[in-house]
Amino acid sequence: MYENEKGYLIVDVHVHPKRRGVLIVDEILNVMDEDNVKLSILLARDTDPNDLNRPDVKDTMVEKLRRSDFLVHMGMDDFFHVFELFMLMRERLSRTVSNVELANIVKQHPGRFLGLGSINLCKSEEYVRDKLREIDELSLAGAKFWPQLQFFNPAESENYRIVCEHFQKKGKIIMMHTGTCPGPWEIPELSEDANPKLLEPVLRDYDVQVIIAHFGYYSATCPGIWFKEALELGRKYANVWFDISAVAYILREEKIVEAIRNNVGFDKVLFGSDYIEYVKPSIDIIINNPHLKENEKERILGLNAVELFKLKM
Ligand SMILES: [Zn+2]
Repeated sequence: MYENEKGYLIVDVHVHPKRRGVLIVDEILNVMDEDNVKLSILLARDTDPNDLNRPDVKDTMVEKLRRSDFLVHMGMDDFFHVFELFMLMRERLSRTVSNVELANIVKQHPGRFLGLGSINLCKSEEYVRDKLREIDELSLAGAKFWPQLQFFNPAESENYRIVCEHFQKKGKIIMMHTGTCPGPWEIPELSEDANPKLLEPVLRDYDVQVIIAHFGYYSATCPGIWFKEALELGRKYANVWFDISAVAYILREEKIVEAIRNNVGFDKVLFGSDYIEYVKPSIDIIINNPHLKENEKERILGLNAVELFKLKM
């Protein structure tokens, strides 16, 4: 087993293989070697700019914008700003990583990566069932979802239930983006479907393993936005896990470490980076953390991921 100098086994469960639409697999491998990351879990992303042309999606987005402070703050012509915002969204939604593309990367580097596919849940039931079949055929470990970019509310989406039922049967993992999202989705109203509390109705009905990415904490505009709701889920459901991708810095605060320990427990917290720039700083925050116990550090950095993904190391 390849380990870092302090002997920690490190698994990074949250890695995007592209930066601004360009593959960075070689850079990821370099960082993994440098920082002794044993395995990384790469994420596909199934989003579609054309969803914004659908009247239901467009109307909902406009309604959310009207409720937000955004237009008030702009203080100018509404129509122009909404148009500009939709252009930005369109560009963001075109940054996709297909399941096939992802599976090929995993296959090309045996032992280095696992893959979580992605399914755009605002599409038809037929589309969703096709993608589930694809994820099975490509041997992907589960799927990553972004409620605000895939325009679904997890509490109401029938497609989300279909996924939960299928993954429960297959033992596959769901990763759910929580918090706001870079770009226009930093406006909290546009991201409100990514509030972890919306996962509760379905968690009651399915025994599927769900990772709450970013602890409900991530938001450039309102950091900590749905952290309380995330902890609440962790307190109630044993099949809920959390990753600290993009928010490892919150573990510097003793009060936060205690809140996680008391509500969730560190045997449910996974190491994740989001982007390679965060790998080293995030590992350092954990390894040198005065508030974490030694066995908690081991669990977060790798052992929890070994358990959840049934890794053979
Ligand atoms: Zn991410």
